[in-house]
Amino acid sequence: MKSLDQSQRFLFDRHPIRGQYVSLDESWARIVSQSGLEGRALTLLGEALAAMVLLVDTLKIKGSVILQVRGSGPLGLLVVEANSENQIRGIARQVGEITDGMDLAQIFGSEYFVITIKTDGAEPHQGIAPLQGANFADALEHYFATSDQLATRFWLTCDKDNVSGMLLQKLPGKAADEDAWNRVVMLADTLSAQELKLAELESVLYRLFHQEEIRLFDSNPLEFYCSCSRERTGAMLLTLGKPEVLEVLEQEGDVSVTCEFCNQHYRFDSIDVEQVFLSSDKIKPGVTAH
Ligand SMILES: [Zn+2]
Repeated sequence: MKSLDQSQRFLFDRHPIRGQYVSLDESWARIVSQSGLEGRALTLLGEALAAMVLLVDTLKIKGSVILQVRGSGPLGLLVVEANSENQIRGIARQVGEITDGMDLAQIFGSEYFVITIKTDGAEPHQGIAPLQGANFADALEHYFATSDQLATRFWLTCDKDNVSGMLLQKLPGKAADEDAWNRVVMLADTLSAQELKLAELESVLYRLFHQEEIRLFDSNPLEFYCSCSRERTGAMLLTLGKPEVLEVLEQEGDVSVTCEFCNQHYRFDSIDVEQVFLSSDKIKPGVTAH
């Protein structure tokens, strides 16, 4: 049986090609139950999540990669994040019906998606890419093909129990065997969704590439993790501004915030709210609200 919740890297010894594999199981189950989504919306959330795990491992950064789409379509919001600590989280919000035959641009009601790369200690880097095609593998491949980056292909599959994905990337440098990339991709295209989901990586690699020499690295265990906290929620209240927060306090008796990623509730009563704004005054003396 294949191991659960893991990502794993592999290299073609004789060609400048690398690969990355991911399977999300219990971590995905947590996100599925939290999301309340099903069908195409759930599939898109899972595929985006798998793609970001594949990317963050490929980039070899210390930090995180975020894919985000906002629009006016039936799936008006999707945000997924994977980080170099092997943690994932993601949400999507469905507000209307997704019908057969809709492409990504129609589903999201947007022409673009945004990829943000956050590296520890550096300014975040943002890339904007067109929502081409019917799934995220299409959109990401189009992005890689047209943005002067390494040739990269994705194979992604998702249902409510599991998300699996594989990435192949052509590395810079002159290949001794010019046809290797095309041959490897053509073989990978014979991978069925069922095989990607159920088979162990070693047997998948053997079936596809038994004529190649492949080096398989240790796998990394993945887990669901949310980076929200009471402090961050307090900081969010600060950005809303004191008058607005006091108005909610007046109407509701307290200010209650629920994290959409993990369902954690944060409750602030009038004393908590005073403390939030008081501590911010101390941190930033002389700064007045506008
Ligand atoms: Zn949270």
